[in-house]
Amino acid sequence: MNPIAANLTAIKSRIAAACAQAGRRADEVTLLPVSKTRTVAEILRARSFGLSRFGENRAQEALAKAQELAQTDIEWVIIGHLQTNKAKIAAQIASEYQALDSLELAASLDRRLQAAGKQLDVLIQVNSSAEPQKFGLAPEAVLGFAAALAPFDALRVRGLMTIAVNSPEREQVAQCFQLMRRLQADLRDHAVPGQSYDELSMGMSGDFELAIAHGATQVRIGEAIFGPRGESGDEDQGDVLAAEAE
Ligand SMILES: *Cc1c(COP(=O)(O)O)cnc(C)c1O
Repeated sequence: MNPIAANLTAIKSRIAAACAQAGRRADEVTLLPVSKTRTVAEILRARSFGLSRFGENRAQEALAKAQELAQTDIEWVIIGHLQTNKAKIAAQIASEYQALDSLELAASLDRRLQAAGKQLDVLIQVNSSAEPQKFGLAPEAVLGFAAALAPFDALRVRGLMTIAVNSPEREQVAQCFQLMRRLQADLRDHAVPGQSYDELSMGMSGDFELAIAHGATQVRIGEAIFGPRGESGDEDQGDVLAAEAE
């Protein structure tokens, strides 16, 4: 069997087992395969195994792939930080943007989307581990941020996204996920009209089972499906490094 197919089968059964363990239905959790650094051939291979929605963390790379695969039904989800000058790309190709953490970017996305007569599902990224190098809002800023997004009606707020601390200490990782669930409840208590907060995008290859135990509705999985990525492109820095290289 192709390694992607075998990995996919294994991941799906691990997701189902984690859901069962948490008393959740398997269809409450969506798998978002993360195809950053992968070739178009690998993506097409994954498409042939039924995956049609892929996560990319850099706008430029996503654009190139979207253009090359324009004749397919593949949908693109951007999961990395975007500089404001890349808003145009996200507005053009993405069906969902999961790393919203600035009003400047929100305004820029909204303007591009309005011009194109489109809307975009967005998740607010939270820095749940308080690591200084990570993107995302401080937890205490999330409620105010959601309220401030209200005027941008091309942006459909759907929930929250986070990258938990990368640590062998399960308890520390779990704390990140617990914080997210509390924030989701806070948002529901202070709901902004037109927004919903049902999506919790959290959990990656190393921690998705724990994320599912804590309410994840989307798990973003790269290496456990496609194999190891190697050195380049393996950071969660979104567009920053790409931009520095330009
Ligand atoms: C790369 C990446 C992932 C997937 O990470 P894996 O460890 O390969 O599963 C998930 N989320 C974001 C934001 C990423 O950049």
